[in-house]
Amino acid sequence: MLVVMKKSAIASEIEAVVDAIEAKGLTARPIPGGDRVAICILHNRGPVDASLFMQMPAVQEVIAVTRPYKLVSRESRPINTVIEVGQVVVGKDNLVIMAGPCAVESESGALEIARMVKERGAQIFRGGAYKPRTSPYAFQGLGEEGLKVLAKVRSETGMPVITEAIDHEVFDVVEHYVDIVQIGARNMQNFSLLRRAGKSKKPVLLKRGMAATIEEWLMAAEYIMEGGNEQVILCERGVRTFANHSRNTLDLSAVPVVKQESHLPVIVDPSHAAGFRDQVVPLARASVAVGCDGLIVEVHNKPAKALSDGAQSLYPDQFRDMCRQVEAIASVYKTSVNC
Ligand code: PEP
Ligand code: MN
Repeated sequence: MLVVMKKSAIASEIEAVVDAIEAKGLTARPIPGGDRVAICILHNRGPVDASLFMQMPAVQEVIAVTRPYKLVSRESRPINTVIEVGQVVVGKDNLVIMAGPCAVESESGALEIARMVKERGAQIFRGGAYKPRTSPYAFQGLGEEGLKVLAKVRSETGMPVITEAIDHEVFDVVEHYVDIVQIGARNMQNFSLLRRAGKSKKPVLLKRGMAATIEEWLMAAEYIMEGGNEQVILCERGVRTFANHSRNTLDLSAVPVVKQESHLPVIVDPSHAAGFRDQVVPLARASVAVGCDGLIVEVHNKPAKALSDGAQSLYPDQFRDMCRQVEAIASVYKTSVNC
């Protein structure tokens, strides 16, 4: 349930509603909107009696939130969430492009790729320091050493950096070094990790699980928001289907559906959806055409030698062409496009 305050509501009137909600043993979460504050009631086990709040000063209306993902839903916050990451803005009327190798493999390699992607259109650098690999014998990432490389990339290039926290154990150190903490597809329903992300002060990129419905994905985001972290970026990265011509099947319709259901920014990872380099640029174009707020793309200067996901990594010049094309598509319906 949502208690919507009048535009004219003053702080003490908002506080009085919060107190009245909490006196019932419930949680009150004020949500500042464009021109009004709404207070979302959480942790109720059944319907709440609206008349309790209707009579209070400066209350405009009390409305039911029909969706199970209350804080994530557009019902509770009609205005888009905009997230600032350093100088980069995510979720405004722009397109954000994150790019870099699947994994940080060495300092010199990461710096070289970072310079290349920055020059060609990236605003945020990606690179895994802890890799969730199918095989225990595959390269698992450089760990904290990789995080230090990411910090160096940021200081040398000025680009914010994103990497994955693969478990609870590494969350603190990842959060310390990077600008955005990624929760990977395999962890989308790792509820203790989501709760930890909810306590973070850093933005969190939440990938869609490879077999998750949109409702399950948004409920996972609700865990993070319920914990107090409102800076959540959603990332569609393809789901498992019977198709074997690509690694996953990119669910393009998820983008407009989620944009309608939620105020959170939605970006697309065409690399993990495709699995093969040749599909990445077309899928990136399609993702922007359906209205995503950005892309996260794997790029490597020597993909044949990459320690993970070389087959889906773009060559730097392919990435440059992709940026030009997607910016042109975005300019059809977005007013502030970056490159
Ligand atoms: C990644 O971004 O490197 C990654 C492992 O992605 P996902 O969790 O989508 O598989
Ligand atoms: Mn990868």
